[in-house]
Amino acid sequence: MRAIEEAGTGTPPRLIWRTAEVIAITEETPRVRTLALGVPGWPGHLAGQHLDVRLTAPDGYSAQRSYSIGSPPETPHIELTVQRLEEGEVSPYLAHDVRPGDRFEVRGPIGGHFVWAATQGGPLLLIAGGSGVVPLMAMLRHRAAAGSTAPAVLLYSSRTFADIIFRAELERLATPGSGLAVVHTLTDSPPADWTGFRRRIDRAMIETVGFPPDAKPRCFICGPTGLVESAARTLVEIGHAAALVKTERFGPTGG
Ligand SMILES: Cc1cc2nc3c(=O)[nH]c(=O)nc-3n(C[C@H](O)[C@H](O)[C@H](O)COP(=O)(O)OP(=O)(O)OC[C@H]3O[C@@H](n4cnc5c(N)ncnc54)[C@H](O)[C@@H]3O)c2cc1C
Repeated sequence: MRAIEEAGTGTPPRLIWRTAEVIAITEETPRVRTLALGVPGWPGHLAGQHLDVRLTAPDGYSAQRSYSIGSPPETPHIELTVQRLEEGEVSPYLAHDVRPGDRFEVRGPIGGHFVWAATQGGPLLLIAGGSGVVPLMAMLRHRAAAGSTAPAVLLYSSRTFADIIFRAELERLATPGSGLAVVHTLTDSPPADWTGFRRRIDRAMIETVGFPPDAKPRCFICGPTGLVESAARTLVEIGHAAALVKTERFGPTGG
């Protein structure tokens, strides 16, 4: 609870800017990198929360963006996984230019509604588009680290096979007996031997792979705005309680 309220006081911790240092960099896909950050004084976080990054140029100009925390609360460092937008201001630095040892400012953790703790149990229905998988990955890593067997499904839409972020780790997490099923859909040029879904996430797909409403799954949807709004609407149309459907929008388009 330290991440969302100061011990015993019931008030959120003050958000202060802290210096983050890049410890390690992992290339996830041609457009996506994970940065492991050391952040002295970081107060801890819950799976699903995000932080703000602030970059400041030598002339004092600064730009600020939000990024989900992909690492679970159990790890001592913080991981951000950032997709490069060619015309973007901040993501090309984080997903391409940054080097180990570089420093920038972060502020967080932020967000109290889009969080899951293993103690809340399941089932968990996670729906992601593109880099929207990042906060859901924090939930799945936390689920594994906590030894939770809560039934979970991740329905994950990527543009192409090469764009699937965390593919190998997701495969490892979803081993038989884990209680986790990972279902991919590709919206562009699936490989010739692809046997999975090959279209945008829709009602038939959600009804086929998701839990029925009477199982009362906790639903978390994250990704481009269009995907998030359409999946949330569909879940409620199918009969899921709106209160159990949580959403996080990353931006106007993408995938
Ligand atoms: C709560 C939250 C968590 C987020 N977590 C992540 C994360 O974990 N990983 C990650 O890669 N991104 C994440 N984002 C998106 C991130 O904040 C930035 O919007 C993104 O990196 C683009 O920033 P930029 O400065 O490079 O592009 P900008 O200079 O802001 O925009 C450049 C162009 O791209 C468009 N654009 C802006 N954002 C997006 C987007 N998300 N998708 C497609 N087009 C866009 C703009 O309209 C503009 O035309 C998150 C956003 C929010 C609100």
